[in-house]
This record gives sequence, structure tokens and C-alpha cells, in this order.
Amino acid sequence: MISKKMADAINAQINREFFSAFLYLAMAHDAYDKGFNGTGKWMTLQFKEEQEHAFKFAKYLQDQGAKVELSAMPAPKLKWPSILAMFEDALEHEKKVTGWINDLNTLAISEKDYATQSMLRWFIDEQVEEEASCMEVINALEMSAKSPSATYMVDRQIGMREED
Ligand code: FE
Repeated sequence: MISKKMADAINAQINREFFSAFLYLAMAHDAYDKGFNGTGKWMTLQFKEEQEHAFKFAKYLQDQGAKVELSAMPAPKLKWPSILAMFEDALEHEKKVTGWINDLNTLAISEKDYATQSMLRWFIDEQVEEEASCMEVINALEMSAKSPSATYMVDRQIGMREED
């Protein structure tokens, strides 16, 4: 059993994970609209991954006998001036998510909730990966920024991402 406060905080995070999914889906569509099919595919995989994160938190709440409570979420941005700007936004968003995961862990520590701390370990590690993969793409896009054909090649490379 976990505290009501902890369950409420995890429920808020479930909504944020679904918002993340929604944001990546908006990015995917904007990338496809602009002919960046590699980025569209990358963002679509990210959309799926974020839903998995939400499901993981939801399963944990259910295993702990707490109610999953979904609520309304804000509409995402719909357009970006470039795929570089898109990945920069993705990185900023992931940094915010890292902060929220850290806040959850701080709460779990203050409540001596060892089960939640253990569950969060996976998310703490995952956030390092999320930020690193955005930064890797940003570096490649920055290097190719002056040449549309180089950007096109980087987009193809981004599309090589496999489902994990
Ligand atoms: Fe996530």
C-alpha cells in the first residue's frame, strides 16, 4: 500500500506521460508534413514509448491497490520551424520530465516508501537515456544546419532508430 499523497503524485505523472506521448505525436505529424520521414518515424516510436511509461506507472498503482485517475491534459504545440527546433523542444521537455521523476523520488524518500523508490529507479535511468538520445540528434542536426541536403541525410539517419 502507498500513501494517498504518493498515489496522487504518480497519477499526475501518468497524465504527464500521456501528454509527452501526445507532444511526440504532434511532432511526428509536423515532421511528416514537412517531408522529414525519418524524424516522423523517430517521433512515432517515442509516442509509443511514452504510452508504455504511462502504463508502467498505472500498473504500479494498481499493484499497490491505488486507483488510476486520468484527467484532462493541455493541447500540444502543433508546428515547429525546423526539425532542429523540434528536437530542442523535445530535450527541454525531457529535462522537465527528469525533474518530475526526481520530485517523485524525493517524496518517496521522505515517506520512507522503498517500493516506490525501487520502481522509480528504472525511470531515473530511462531519463538519462532520453536526454542523451535527444542531444545526439541535436548535435548531428547542428552540424548539418547550413546544408539542406545534409539535413536530409541526417533525417534518414534519425529514421534508422529501431523499436526498443
Ligand atoms: Fe516518459
